[in-house]
Amino acid sequence: MKPAYDVVVIGAGPAGSIAARTTAQAGLSTLLIEKRQEIGAPVRCAEAAGRDTLAKFTPLNPQWVCAEIDAFSISNPQGDCVVLPAQEKTLVLERKIFDRELAHSAARSGAEVLVKAGATGIERDAHDGSMTVRMVVQGEPKAVRARIVVGADGTESQCARWAGLASAPQMKNYYVAAQYLLTGIEFNPRICQYHVGWSIAPAGYCWVFPKGDDQANVGLVVGADSGGSKTALDYLNEFIAARFPGCSMLAQVAGGIPITNVLPRMVADGFMAVGDAAHQSDPLTAGGITNGMHGGLFAAQVAVQAIQQGDTSARFLRKYEQMWDAEFGKLYRRLFRIRQAVLKMTEADLSQIIAEAAKLDVRTMSFDDILPIVLKSHPQLLLEAIPYMLGQ
Ligand SMILES: Cc1cc2nc3c(=O)[nH]c(=O)nc-3n(C[C@H](O)[C@H](O)[C@H](O)COP(=O)(O)OP(=O)(O)OC[C@H]3O[C@@H](n4cnc5c(N)ncnc54)[C@H](O)[C@@H]3O)c2cc1C
Repeated sequence: MKPAYDVVVIGAGPAGSIAARTTAQAGLSTLLIEKRQEIGAPVRCAEAAGRDTLAKFTPLNPQWVCAEIDAFSISNPQGDCVVLPAQEKTLVLERKIFDRELAHSAARSGAEVLVKAGATGIERDAHDGSMTVRMVVQGEPKAVRARIVVGADGTESQCARWAGLASAPQMKNYYVAAQYLLTGIEFNPRICQYHVGWSIAPAGYCWVFPKGDDQANVGLVVGADSGGSKTALDYLNEFIAARFPGCSMLAQVAGGIPITNVLPRMVADGFMAVGDAAHQSDPLTAGGITNGMHGGLFAAQVAVQAIQQGDTSARFLRKYEQMWDAEFGKLYRRLFRIRQAVLKMTEADLSQIIAEAAKLDVRTMSFDDILPIVLKSHPQLLLEAIPYMLGQ
């Protein structure tokens, strides 16, 4: 490890590796640190992501593609089921291999990559604007200087807090997740299933995402403030006992995901937050793999300009927030509103909408076709729907 770098990236998930690769490719000296001993493990993800979006960042590799998905099904507890063709072909990944390959590509581009290197603090020198990153590497305390620090330390990000950003989500804007990798169950290997109903996942949903012909990620998210004494794992165990008796479990994961819109400020002087650390996961589904990769790319592109122009102030780095907003701002505000509207519905309302939608011709169906069904049964949601209808 050198005493100083242009850029230090904290966290080698998809967002951090793309950021490190991009700054290294531009010729900046880059250090990527990961606190765990193995990049990509343990996996805390259902591992689904859009194929074409992934391909923009990295050549597709059969070693990390477990399944190709053609369609998504949405079911209610009564068994009504809408099957929607995937707008973009979707892949279910082997993230252990995928994440490591992205970090490898950062290393091949010239970044130094270190595992068992956990950041413990960041500080900015008020005189020269340089950043110091404190860390523990293989048990030894160390410090390096950087012109810019990229915080890519995921959903439990401490970097964003160290940089003074308001990063703690409210409980109501947080999903708690539990998931098993199951085998010995029946499912269509080309369909990702969603199961919706507050009795099976309060303020959230369940999923069955195939990982090939005989394994699937089966999990759920529940709203962190959805109350009651049952945990996400209790709900998942009930779902599995009812649907997949006799299955075998190969892995279990738990995690949390912010479902706010992105942080109101994603940058500070000398600092940029990306990926889950900036709450860039989708505010409706909480998917965040490719969204975080976009965040990492945009931040790194602005970091390159900032260092070339010798201005690492928050004012300059805000160009990154503008890039994010131009690409995702409108969509995220809309998805956030849709989630708020869905949360106001009862389970019976949701079930009725799914039952009605199941009667439509899904080959040509879009969200716009579902909207009149929703408004017919819930005229009180018109106010929420107006911005959507106006395209805002
Ligand atoms: C159960 C579950 C299912 C999900 N399913 C999907 C899905 O199907 N599709 C999808 O798109 N998204 C899904 N997500 C969300 C997705 O996993 C995240 O949005 C994505 O991993 C975010 O990438 P990231 O690089 O920002 O963070 P992460 O992938 O979390 O990477 C952050 C990295 O930073 C490291 N780190 C943390 N602190 C430090 C430190 N102090 N120093 C050094 N390193 C540190 C961590 O060890 C980690 O490796 C799911 C999430 C959960 C919990």
